[in-house]
Amino acid sequence: MTTHSSFTVTTIATIATPFKQKFAIPRQPNLAKAQGLITFEEGFSDVHMLKGIENYSHLWLLFIFHQNLERGWKNTVKAPRLGGNASMGVLASRSTHRPNGIGMSVVTNKGTVTRDGKTQLLVEGVDLVDGTPLIDIKPYIAYADSIPAACDRLDELNPIPYRKVSFLARLKPALAEIEKKHNDFSALVTSVLSQDPRPAYKQQLDNEDKTYRVTLYNIDVGFEVKDGAIWVTELVHLG
Ligand code: SAH
Repeated sequence: MTTHSSFTVTTIATIATPFKQKFAIPRQPNLAKAQGLITFEEGFSDVHMLKGIENYSHLWLLFIFHQNLERGWKNTVKAPRLGGNASMGVLASRSTHRPNGIGMSVVTNKGTVTRDGKTQLLVEGVDLVDGTPLIDIKPYIAYADSIPAACDRLDELNPIPYRKVSFLARLKPALAEIEKKHNDFSALVTSVLSQDPRPAYKQQLDNEDKTYRVTLYNIDVGFEVKDGAIWVTELVHLG
């Protein structure tokens, strides 16, 4: 029988993001300009833990895929990049179903904010669902972490989809109202939907008689695909 060492990791912070569900979250960071606000847990909230963080334009977030843990993991995963049919080794993938369920995302450091005497950290470009637990934060160091010659043959074969996104004209007043609170809202919706969040087997379809829905912040966004373009058809405040 083999024995494995186990280690305990602790949530040091949680991140609040506009993404209320996994559907439509970009598959990697920085594909949409979504902001995340990091709130530190007790025992990890001493402001000295962040001393010098302003020296770094980008940060690595290490986190737990907490919404997928109970579904476990398999040796191979279906690769969405390959139409969802071909399989890849879990360790040759960025699948969210993996041993230990640890995720990593590089994000832009937007600096600290202090609210009610508590220091929080603002980041941009997140691909994390609202409430994701963070287990570590580290500076991104370009001299080591950036490898311009790196190759990704799957990306060459299957680039991320891009579709034009428009809002129905009658949504203008609703959009203006939402932007009073979330001034990045139309940019966020546009960048999220332009990557065509439909399941891989539907992404070839240029027309569908179906309204898809995604919640961003507290807004239910309805969208349709017509003549190859994405149209936002509904914006409903969820209160
Ligand atoms: N950049 C990370 C994540 C890539 S997968 C890494 O490579 O490790 C990105 C997907 O993770 C998103 O599309 C979203 O659906 C999913 N996701 C984000 N937060 C999650 C969470 N807390 N639990 C489970 N899945 C999550």
